Amino acid sequence: MKKLSFKIGLLFFTAILLLEGVSIIFLHNNILHSRVHDELNALQTRGNNHRDILEASFQKETIMHIAMMEARTDTQVILTKTDRSIYMSSNKVTDEMKAIIKTTPKHIPHDGLIIEDDWKNGAYIASVSPVIVDQKIDGYVYMFQNTQKIKDLISELNRHFLFAGLLSLLFMGIIIIILTRVMTQPLIQMNEITKRMSKGDFSVSLPALGNDELGELGESIKILARDLAILTNERNEFLASISHELRTPLTYIKGYAEIARRQDTAPSERDQYLGIIVEEAVKLSKLVKELFHLAKMDENTFSIEKEMIPLRPFFQEVIEKVSPAFKENHLRIELNCPENISCEMDPIRFEQVILNLLDNARKYSEPNTKISISVQVKGDKIHMMIQDEGKGIPEEDLPRIFERFYRVDKSRARSLGGTGLGLSIVKQLVEAHGGTISVESKTNVGTTFEIIL
Ligand code: ADP
Repeated sequence: MKKLSFKIGLLFFTAILLLEGVSIIFLHNNILHSRVHDELNALQTRGNNHRDILEASFQKETIMHIAMMEARTDTQVILTKTDRSIYMSSNKVTDEMKAIIKTTPKHIPHDGLIIEDDWKNGAYIASVSPVIVDQKIDGYVYMFQNTQKIKDLISELNRHFLFAGLLSLLFMGIIIIILTRVMTQPLIQMNEITKRMSKGDFSVSLPALGNDELGELGESIKILARDLAILTNERNEFLASISHELRTPLTYIKGYAEIARRQDTAPSERDQYLGIIVEEAVKLSKLVKELFHLAKMDENTFSIEKEMIPLRPFFQEVIEKVSPAFKENHLRIELNCPENISCEMDPIRFEQVILNLLDNARKYSEPNTKISISVQVKGDKIHMMIQDEGKGIPEEDLPRIFERFYRVDKSRARSLGGTGLGLSIVKQLVEAHGGTISVESKTNVGTTFEIIL
C-alpha cells in the first residue's frame, strides 16, 4: 500500500510538474519578450523624437541641447553624418558603439530601425533614425542603451518566477501527500479487512466511504464478508448434518452385524438382521449419491442441456417407470396433459425432478388415494402440478421443506428411506432450468407442488 500511495503521488507530481513547468516557461518567455520589446521600442521612439527635433531645426544649438538632455539619462545619443562619421555624442563613444554603427544597413526607413537587439551577449541595444531635410538625408541619430539595465530587469523577473515556482512546488507536494493519503487510506483499510477475512474473521467494520467507486468496493466487501460468513456457517451445519445422517445407518449396520455374527444367533434371526443391514446400506448409498449430486450442483460443474420435449409422452414415460411401486402401495396416478405441449428442458435432469416429487407423494400417501399430474399453459409459462391426497405438511414446516436434510417427521421419513435431500435437489434443478417451484399443503388433505417454467 505504501507503494501504491508513492506511485499515485509520483504520477500526480510528474503530471503537475510537467503542466506547471510548461506553462511557467511559456509565461516567462512571453513576459521576457514583451519587456525587451518595450525597451527596444522606447529606445527607438526616443531616437525618433530627437530626429523630429533635428529635422525641424538642424542647428548647432539644437544638437547641443539634445546632447545635454541625453547626458543625464541611461541612454546615449550619437549623431553621425551621412558617411557615419561621428558628429556629436552625449557621452563617450566606446569601441562597441563604433562597431555597431559600422553594421548599420544602407537603407533605413524614416521610422528608424533597431540595429542591435542582442541584450544577452552585447553591451548595448541600439537603434538608428535618419534625419531627412528636404528629402535629403542630413545625418543619423543613433540611440544606445546599456544592456545591463535589461539584464537586471530580467534577473529580477527570473527571481520572481523561481520563487513562485518553488512555492507552488511546495504547495503541490503538500496537496499530493494529503490527496494520496485520502485516496489510499480506504484501500489500506480494505486490504487489511480482506486479509482478516482470508483468515476467517468476517466481522467487518468499514466506515462509510461515500458513493463513489471506492464506496461501492467497500460495500461489495461488506456483502462478501456477510455472504462468506453465511456460507461458512451453512457449510459447518451441512457437515454436521452429513455426519449425523451417516452415523445413524452406520450404527444400525454395526449393531446388527455384531448380533448376526454371534454364534448363538438363530439362522432366521440372522437373515432378518442381514436384511436390515442391506436396507441400511442401500439407504447409505442413496444418501451418498444424493450428496454427490448436490456437490456437483454447487460446483456448477453440471450443465443443463435443454431441448424441446413434448410433455405428454415425457410424463407418460415417467409414470410407466414408477407405476410398479405405486401399484404396490395401491396408489393411482392420473395425468392431465394436453397434447402438443412442448417445453425446453433437460429431459434427464427434469425426469429426476418429477421422480423425486412422485416418490415423495408415494411415500407420504395412504393406500387407495390418487396422485395427479396436471400440465397447463398460462401465457408464455407452463405450469406443472403434482398433487397428492396424502398426510400433508404442517404449515409451520412448509417454508423449510426445501432445505437440505429438513424432514417433517424425522423418524417416519427415515423409515421410509428419506434422506431429506430430495426436495433441495428438486429446487436446485428447477432453478437451474430458470423455473420456480412452490408448495401448498394441508395436513391430512394433501399436498400440491407447482413448477412454473
Ligand atoms: P425426504 O427424502 O425425507 O423425502 P425431501 O427433501 O424429499 O426429503 O422432503 C422433505 C420433507 O418434506 C419430507 O421429510 C416430508 O416430511 C416432507 N414432504 C415432502 N413431500 C411431501 C408430500 N408429498 N407429502 C407430505 N410431506 C412431504
